[in-house]
Amino acid sequence: MTPPQTIMSCIFCKIISGVVPVPGRGGESPAQILYRDDLVTAFRDIHPIAPTHILIVTNRHIDSVNELEPVDESLVGHMVMVAKQLAAQEGIAEPGYRLIFNTGAHGGQTVFHLHLHLIGGRLARVVVPVSARGFALE
Ligand code: AMP
Ligand code: ZN
Repeated sequence: MTPPQTIMSCIFCKIISGVVPVPGRGGESPAQILYRDDLVTAFRDIHPIAPTHILIVTNRHIDSVNELEPVDESLVGHMVMVAKQLAAQEGIAEPGYRLIFNTGAHGGQTVFHLHLHLIGGRLARVVVPVSARGFALE
């Protein structure tokens, strides 16, 4: 179980609770939560690697996919369904997009609060491990 001090210092927990504003496009436009319900919150990545780069994060602090329990199956399914809805909203359902759960150090995970990357808006080629984050899109 994650100690409380870890959750208190978690940037995504702070965003979800409204303690820190979420960035807009380019970090300059007003804070915007793109989607929120009882289970998840979605906002734009502060360092987008494509025209659309949205994070769908669980409202409950879960470190990573490794900490998911069988009871969380529907939560993960919900994250994917919200991503699908946001992709349609962003106009990228066609020609398509990537959904990525980075997990652990070798998975390129840098924020240890479960999140799903929704990335699209340009052609995504093969994943190449060239960036510090462990992946990059060409
Ligand atoms: P990962 O590397 O899979 O853990 O992804 C974490 C993502 O969170 C990275 O793409 C970061 O750019 C993004 N990120 C970190 N801090 C913030 C923040 N304050 N607001 C929005 N996105 C953030
Ligand atoms: Zn958190």
